[in-house]
Amino acid sequence: MKEANHARLIEALQFAGTMTQADLSRFTGLAPSTVSNIVRELSASGLLRVSPTVSRGRTAQAVRLSRGAGVLVAADFGHRHLTVAVADLAYEVLAEHRMELDWDHRVDDGLDAVQRILSRLLTELEIDRELVVGLGIGLPAPIDSRTGQVGAPSQLPGWVGVDAAAAATEQLGVPARVDNDANLGALAEDRWGAGRGAENVAYVKLSDGVGAGLVIRGELYQGSIGTAGEIGHVTMNEYGALCRCGNRGCLEMLVGTSALLAQLAPNYGTDLTIADVVRMARDGNVACHRILEDAGHHIGVAVANLCNVFNPDRVIIGGELAQADDLVLGSLRRTLNRQGIPSAAQAVDLVLAELGARSHLLGALVIASAGASPSVLAAGKLAGRSPDGVVGVPTP
Ligand SMILES: [Zn+2]
Repeated sequence: MKEANHARLIEALQFAGTMTQADLSRFTGLAPSTVSNIVRELSASGLLRVSPTVSRGRTAQAVRLSRGAGVLVAADFGHRHLTVAVADLAYEVLAEHRMELDWDHRVDDGLDAVQRILSRLLTELEIDRELVVGLGIGLPAPIDSRTGQVGAPSQLPGWVGVDAAAAATEQLGVPARVDNDANLGALAEDRWGAGRGAENVAYVKLSDGVGAGLVIRGELYQGSIGTAGEIGHVTMNEYGALCRCGNRGCLEMLVGTSALLAQLAPNYGTDLTIADVVRMARDGNVACHRILEDAGHHIGVAVANLCNVFNPDRVIIGGELAQADDLVLGSLRRTLNRQGIPSAAQAVDLVLAELGARSHLLGALVIASAGASPSVLAAGKLAGRSPDGVVGVPTP
């Protein structure tokens, strides 16, 4: 009973970050005196931080989880980069580091890099390694939810066929969870970004790889084996260019950032970035403008089909191409209106992602904490906290 009450209070703080004792009582349904007792007990053991504040014109106690309650780690692997972040249990990022990483690296080299960055960040933050309660990893690949194996097509071929969560748990000694990066972006945008207030959300990631994450009433929809949302590989032209997935004419072959930049390379060189293309389009460059407008049209065809089948109330456009804003969204919206059935297309809100490059990282923190649920924290860690303050890592 006591542990269940602890868990409820911790869960509320994870959700809200900082709360007053009065809000905690309202949110958890626990009596104010019970909340006050738990707060006193947990702050004495260093798990909560309490500071004076003013709420509705009266002095109050602001309560939040301290780092001593544990930290979460996120590792986001992109096509050419790795970002690692350490956050507290209320998902506030305490430190992060990004590095370049070759797309053809091996799994143990990738995990070694996570290990090195994590050690450095923890040292900087003066946080004991034992306080890491979960690791969430984002990969630009489908993850088979039955076996945990990284599937093809992957932007990181070295990871294909590997049970990445098991490998990371073993190599880093921290309970790890893994998901597709678009799924993580969808989770984060739904929770803290452009998806707030919507019921059924499709998050479309438009970068070198193209994918989507689908969230239904706050829950990620993964499909029967975890590959739902692979919009990058819908067929746009049966006779089109061969894709890395083995099919022809996939959406990603038309609008992946490599494909867009390759079209401009003969005239503008190979050093161009999407940021350059957007800037040049705004400065009146017709070719750059056309490339982005056509991309919006192609994405619109795929999104119209997605809306016909999935009927989301909000479609969120994220990834590198989101910085083109209206240059892509204008033609996307026109095509969506023309090719979606009117009832599905008109009902949908088409918006830009709000969390930018951080959405995958924040989503990875969400799955990191799912591997170390508040009940685990309350029942295992809090109860098992030894007198010298060393906390054991819960088993996954
Ligand atoms: Zn494909």
